Amino acid sequence: LSERKRKPAWLKIQLPSTADYNWMNKTIRDHKLHTICTSGKCPNAAECWSNGTATFMILGDICTRACKFCNVKTGKPDAVDFKEPLRIARSIKIMKLKHAVITSVDRDDLEDGGASVWAETIRMVKELNPGITQEVLIPDFNGLKHLIQKVIDAGPEVISHNLETVRRLTPQIRSKAKYDLSLKVLQYISSSGVVSKSGIMVGLGETPEEVFETMDDLRAVGVKVLTIGQYLQPTPKHWPVYEYVTPGQFEIYRKEGLKRGFKYVESGPLVRSSYHAEKHINALSE
Ligand code: SF4
Ligand code: SF4
Repeated sequence: LSERKRKPAWLKIQLPSTADYNWMNKTIRDHKLHTICTSGKCPNAAECWSNGTATFMILGDICTRACKFCNVKTGKPDAVDFKEPLRIARSIKIMKLKHAVITSVDRDDLEDGGASVWAETIRMVKELNPGITQEVLIPDFNGLKHLIQKVIDAGPEVISHNLETVRRLTPQIRSKAKYDLSLKVLQYISSSGVVSKSGIMVGLGETPEEVFETMDDLRAVGVKVLTIGQYLQPTPKHWPVYEYVTPGQFEIYRKEGLKRGFKYVESGPLVRSSYHAEKHINALSE
């Protein structure tokens, strides 16, 4: 490995095995749920869980798309489990979460792309957990506004849709998704008055100028919160890491983002789109 590709010290962290961590892990397993925290082997799990935040994945764990960076299984998904919304809501109650992040696989196989399960989940979580805040990281629903509207109508506090990478790399890295379609989805969310959020990974081969252009594109459609984190290759079959972006460069991105008018920019090597999600809500309500 070249010096450039060797994992730098700032990315080497160990998962602490705290009692909280083990308890959360067990609760997730017992309720047959999927979290990005565990399936994505997220390095922030212990920190997030002890701060009362976790990211659940709904609509099963098999995706109809196959993005080059993503470790979620791909193929023909199982039938929709209509009891899932209630299980999610109950688990959040047991875990005493203050802020829940919910995402899903893409369900291009379903007529409504899973929008009704999304809406039911958001409502159930609210009903069983009064006072909770929710951020939902949604797929593009192929740009169909009436499906996105179903999610908006269920009343989450933040709706997020990730661009994942810059315009030039999108066709190679994201499966089926299109850069401009994602921007349209974000514009629709922003125009509804809900806080819109997006995230990208860096280290995929983009240039800083392309990152700045992406920021401008996101601001032009009213996105208020941006996350930027280092891409890590989940397995040798996935898109290779082009470079490890330095903490100094992440700080430049953070400052540039704020200059461009984002209300909150989370930018750092270990940042994931749901990292410090509870802080975004607090910052936006100040
Ligand atoms: Fe879970 Fe997101 Fe925190 Fe990672 S950053 S542990 S996925 S809530
Ligand atoms: Fe992974 Fe989402 Fe792409 Fe599916 S659509 S492969 S879950 S990033």
